[in-house]
Amino acid sequence: MDCFDFPVEVIRTPRKRSAAIHVSSGVVSVRVPQSLSDKRIQDLIHKRSVWIKRKIKEQADRPASKPKEYVSGESFSYLGKTYRLKVVDGAEPSLKMKGGQLVASVPKDAKNRESLVKSLVADWYQSHADQKLREKVERFAPLVGVEPRSIAVKAYKSRWGSCTSSGDISFNWKIIQAPHRIVDYVVIHELCHMLEHNHSPKYWTHVARYVRDWRVCRVWLREKLHPHSL
Ligand SMILES: [Zn+2]
Repeated sequence: MDCFDFPVEVIRTPRKRSAAIHVSSGVVSVRVPQSLSDKRIQDLIHKRSVWIKRKIKEQADRPASKPKEYVSGESFSYLGKTYRLKVVDGAEPSLKMKGGQLVASVPKDAKNRESLVKSLVADWYQSHADQKLREKVERFAPLVGVEPRSIAVKAYKSRWGSCTSSGDISFNWKIIQAPHRIVDYVVIHELCHMLEHNHSPKYWTHVARYVRDWRVCRVWLREKLHPHSL
């Protein structure tokens, strides 16, 4: 479709019952049900064009993050602070935070040192995220006046958290790289979904009660951290 100032790829599929728009590397793809007319598709894109342009700009502005090599000297963020990785020889593989450094011990003769360090780092982050996020839920849930049925901390490719209508809350462990106030916002965001299962103005009034600068937090997340990256 070339009636927009960005390229649009339309994918018609019999399996789809509603439309979905994705933006990736400046290309907009729209998956729609087989029978949807061109006119309806154009209206749909038109309605979402502000969002689409914002996504295109965000993706263009975001510096391509260099993949980590998991070697000494590399820096990692944890709760908004930067820590250097130090890889040392050790009898058993382990990772500890010591004096402002993340010290990874790996056996001298270990094969695939980088992938071993990578899994040590990921495990460390995941267990710390699990602990911190649960603490924050425990602190904020009574304030919001809700009681989540379950809390899970796992890997998500493109989101920071989710909340089901029955109160099962999940978080992306990678959020633990962000400063406390941003992590707090994500926790409050999911807890408030137990009051309001949408992003309506009413929902945001709940959020604003606990995080007055929720807009700033949202922009921070959009610009500074990607749900997929460590
Ligand atoms: Zn939400």
